[in-house]
Amino acid sequence: MSQPTPDYSSTAPVLVTGATGYLAGWIVKRLLEEGKTVHAAVRDPSNKQKIAHLDDMAASLPGDIKYFKADLLDEGSFDEAIQGCDVVMHTASPFTSEVTDPQKDLVDPAVRGTRNVLGAANRTDSVKRVVVTSSCAAIYGDAVDVAQSPGQTLTEDDWNTTSRLDHQSYSFSKVEAEKAAWEMADAQDRWKLVTINPSLIVGPGTAKTQTSESFNFMKQAGDGTFKMGVPKMEIGMVDVRDVAEAHLLAGFIENAEGRHIVSKETHDFLFIGEVLRKKFGDKYPFPKGYLPKWMVWLIGPMANKALTREMVAKNINHPWAADNSKSKEKLGLSYQPVEPALEKMFQQLLDAGLVKK
Ligand code: NAP
Repeated sequence: MSQPTPDYSSTAPVLVTGATGYLAGWIVKRLLEEGKTVHAAVRDPSNKQKIAHLDDMAASLPGDIKYFKADLLDEGSFDEAIQGCDVVMHTASPFTSEVTDPQKDLVDPAVRGTRNVLGAANRTDSVKRVVVTSSCAAIYGDAVDVAQSPGQTLTEDDWNTTSRLDHQSYSFSKVEAEKAAWEMADAQDRWKLVTINPSLIVGPGTAKTQTSESFNFMKQAGDGTFKMGVPKMEIGMVDVRDVAEAHLLAGFIENAEGRHIVSKETHDFLFIGEVLRKKFGDKYPFPKGYLPKWMVWLIGPMANKALTREMVAKNINHPWAADNSKSKEKLGLSYQPVEPALEKMFQQLLDAGLVKK
């Protein structure tokens, strides 16, 4: 079977929402490499520190970058940034564990933001394709759900039906946002929606420091949070550069359609400790063993408000598997191993002084 080929020949600009983000940085870089003009929608274009890494990329790569002020919650605020664009990459969505009100902090920006961006696409004749960064979190809610899928392996046919505002609220925000996106895509026929559904994204960022929860999580692997052990929880992982490439392929391969699981390997959290110890030695308190499920069930909710008893029951000691074959066959995506990505990501945290010896 011949590999699908992306066509980057259009001279129209490409809108990237949340361009300051961890994943978006690599998407912007790839677009600039292809000579594209990137319309970078950011919350605060006057914050030069937050966009310096994007300016540096644009200075040395063939494409150009223009900044536009836009907030997911401000109706119509993407209308200027989207002008003339043929492809939209909608990555912006809060990915944080610092949540006091899940509706306000996660669901509103994710869902209303998606409607806002896609509403702008509806009003802009030049738009032909919208790539939405969804997540494997829109495919399953808890690891226990994986057992319900044929072959105990998640596919693009699966939807998260179990997350709620008060349980796995980030996953709830992602599935509600993706549903809203498909509803709006199905209600018109000028632009086509393609979604990328990554598992846990790992690897270095294009900026020295990143706010993505991926980095908080990696920081915890080295700062002693898990020195007593980790819960045995499996999860898919994928290099951030592969996820960015998936977005470009989704945007520029003519026949790209539907959802795409983008995930390279399944591991548990102890794997991260083992990889990092092999590379960085025993200088850091990387996790060395598993915590028994009963212990996490008992003390987890006191140590971490996200580790509720329901969360523990439905995620610890349950295998996780997802089928990434559509991304390889339909997008022609090839994956890199995650181990070097984990090492580079941790090195970046050390260089930024965010993990101390
Ligand atoms: P990130 O670095 O935190 O990026 C999120 C972006 O969303 C930031 O640019 C942020 O802008 C922007 N944003 C948040 N609230 C906004 C608002 N109200 N208005 C405008 N922009 C807003 O996280 P990431 O990991 O790169 O995530 C990017 C996308 O990938 C998200 O859709 C996330 O759900 C998805 N995803 C991530 C993972 C993962 O493991 N990292 C896995 C699957 C899917 P500021 O810079 O101004 O805060």
